[in-house]
Amino acid sequence: MFRNLKPVGRILYGRNSFDQLGDVLDELRVEKNSFVLFLVDEYFEGKDFLKRIPMKAQDILKIIDITDEPKTKTVDEMVAEIKNLGIGFPVSVVGIGGGSVMDYAKAIRLMFTNEGSSVQYQGLDFIKNKGVHCTVIPTISGTGAEVSITTVLTGPVKKLGIKGNFTAADQIVLDPELITTVPEPQRFYTAMDCYIHNVEALNGYRRSVMGDSLGIESLRIFREIYLSKDTRTPENEEKLMVASYLGGLSLTYSEVGACHAMSYGLATVTNIHHGVGNCVVFNQLDEFYPDAVKEFREMMTLNNIEIPRGVTANCTPEEIDIMIDVSLTLVFMWQHVCGPEWQKIITRDKLRGLFMKM
Ligand code: NAD
Ligand code: ZN
Repeated sequence: MFRNLKPVGRILYGRNSFDQLGDVLDELRVEKNSFVLFLVDEYFEGKDFLKRIPMKAQDILKIIDITDEPKTKTVDEMVAEIKNLGIGFPVSVVGIGGGSVMDYAKAIRLMFTNEGSSVQYQGLDFIKNKGVHCTVIPTISGTGAEVSITTVLTGPVKKLGIKGNFTAADQIVLDPELITTVPEPQRFYTAMDCYIHNVEALNGYRRSVMGDSLGIESLRIFREIYLSKDTRTPENEEKLMVASYLGGLSLTYSEVGACHAMSYGLATVTNIHHGVGNCVVFNQLDEFYPDAVKEFREMMTLNNIEIPRGVTANCTPEEIDIMIDVSLTLVFMWQHVCGPEWQKIITRDKLRGLFMKM
């Protein structure tokens, strides 16, 4: 069966396009008491940027703590808090931040119209009702969360995306000015998520012309940025934003691979964040992606990046087993990497050996 995809409805793109957000939201404010729920990355707390957010008196703004990656518990609590105000649902949930804040926005908008806890909806196609309108505005680029049909959440049992027909955002604002303040090495780690998405999408069994076309172009732009002398020129910031968008879109028509399957396992035990966790894992995957891992190391050297080492050094054998268990549940990813007979190749011993090297 093919999915009849609903991509992100509208894209406002360009330098300083953020200043048009007010106009976009005004179109949605049809009732007198319409309000917008803004979720803003904690980096912006106390910064002048907050004054540029087109708030009206009745709007609600929440600064989002992302010490931990998005949790089902926080999603449920925030939806309950707004519902308890008895003022109806927001006309848009606007997420301004990285993958974490955008995923919060994408999940919260769904839970206004789907009963119960977000935990019930982790997985494919459990969401039955369209959510309220959702706007996502990346302020750091690489995850592709702005365009993907996934919202990744950590629940009491698992870290897994909510994914289905109603899970993409309705509006994106792509303004490269917003990512200029991201410090290194965070910028590198999140950007590498885009590189790894492309490498994984383009190496595997679940490929298509559509996925390849988007992934190849994303990778081409990405190389221009990260193999250049100065990755942080205004032109390169804009290219990174576009590479992230195209890479995220390519995944809709392909699948992530070995790095993401193992990175989810690693994160379950160590709580390591997605971008840096991927870099730690990818650095050990010569067997799966030999040329790309070499190129990745070249990019690290060029950008003076040292990724954390010894991440699993203090893990117990039981903890390594949990990483392996989680990783092996990601069957779709392994099938994409190794084909239908993946279990003959991806053994527990192989994964153990790799995890212990990280
Ligand atoms: P992030 O959202 O976790 O943010 C990383 C850091 O960058 C934070 O400290 C944040 O405060 C800071 N930051 C953000 N914008 C900034 C700015 N303009 N200036 C200075 N600092 C800024 O990072 P991320 O890598 O974008 O997102 C990771 C999350 O995305 C994970 O939770 C992961 O699971 C999720 N993800 C989702 C998808 C998807 O398709 N939905 C895909 C990949 C990853
Ligand atoms: Zn990723």
